[in-house]
Amino acid sequence: MGRANDGMRPKRPWPLLIMVLIFLGLIGVLLVLIVTAPPTPSVEVSAGAGPDAASSKTVDFARGFKRIDAHAHLSVGSLPQLVELMDLYGFAHIVDLSGGIPDHGLEAHLTQAMASHGRISVFMTLPGREFRVPGYGQRIAAMIERAKQMGAKGFKIPKGLGLGWDGPDGKLVPVDDPGLDPIFETCGRLGMPITIHTADPKAFWQPPTPANERYEELSAHPGWSFYKAGTASWEELLDQLERRVARHPNTTIIGVHFGNAAEEPERVARMLRKYPNYYIDTSARVPEFGRHPPDKMRAFFIEFQDRILYGTDLGVGPEPGDLVLGSGGDEPPPPAEVVRFFRSTYRYFQTPDLNFESPTPIQGKWNINGINLPKEVLEKLYFRNAQRVMGIPAQ
Ligand SMILES: [Zn+2]
Repeated sequence: MGRANDGMRPKRPWPLLIMVLIFLGLIGVLLVLIVTAPPTPSVEVSAGAGPDAASSKTVDFARGFKRIDAHAHLSVGSLPQLVELMDLYGFAHIVDLSGGIPDHGLEAHLTQAMASHGRISVFMTLPGREFRVPGYGQRIAAMIERAKQMGAKGFKIPKGLGLGWDGPDGKLVPVDDPGLDPIFETCGRLGMPITIHTADPKAFWQPPTPANERYEELSAHPGWSFYKAGTASWEELLDQLERRVARHPNTTIIGVHFGNAAEEPERVARMLRKYPNYYIDTSARVPEFGRHPPDKMRAFFIEFQDRILYGTDLGVGPEPGDLVLGSGGDEPPPPAEVVRFFRSTYRYFQTPDLNFESPTPIQGKWNINGINLPKEVLEKLYFRNAQRVMGIPAQ
């Protein structure tokens, strides 16, 4: 049809064609610019995080930093799913705190770590059932010696001290029980850092009613409530922890979950100033410390920039999608929740954004405020502190 008109208006088609070509050229240039644009340096915040966001090989907001996750719980058989997650969300290395003990799981966790080509470190886990028989401190210390020879990097103490594990006399073994001293001294001598979980969010000591700010979480996990007669108070447990840290100046002790006291940054700061052997990780507490004033938290992370390790408290199972994002319900999280978990965490540390959703709303229905840390502080938080403190080889 166009050609039929060409003969009738010989002068018109050429300028039109040139205009069309210029127009198409401009669109082409625009497309090239979009496709080759460098990644956004900070967290991309405007687009909704759907499952599609995770389908590209590296998620945009995770780029720009190398990370070590200093606090994760891996199942044996989780490696394929784990490696995919690490590549998507910007992890060079991950620390498996659920290694178990020699002859009871540790071998399998270390074998999995070997198969990761240096991307996993494994910590031995304290076996609380040993406490029933006297001499538990020495026996566990001997296990730690073996675990070290086998390749374990450190030692993890779950929250059973003072809350769940009975000693030979049937009474709870407190965090500062002298019978545990050989464990702490052995780890210090062997250069194995200890990560220790003491107490839990303060809200778990309040009645588990709808008025509790963590009601949803406590409803999903009724056993996490410590609103029971005879339970040690939150303050008493934190005091036990402090006496423990003070007793072993030559042992590196990492208080998980923001030093187990995200509600009280002043307490954590005081301990970090007083005890040079004390460190903290950030796992599962961004929602909690993220609601303090951002200026105050920014100052905290800058003052203690050499003492804080980035951790997630991620649980990774063998089946695809079998994940726990620090805290969760009975069902595995849908893909959008996985994206939100990492996006909100990185947004907290890397941007000055205010009033956005926390990584894990099940931990409380409030929003958080970003602290926009300087690049060199982020590099220490995300990678260099864990590398130094946990003895992780350069990646
Ligand atoms: Zn954990």
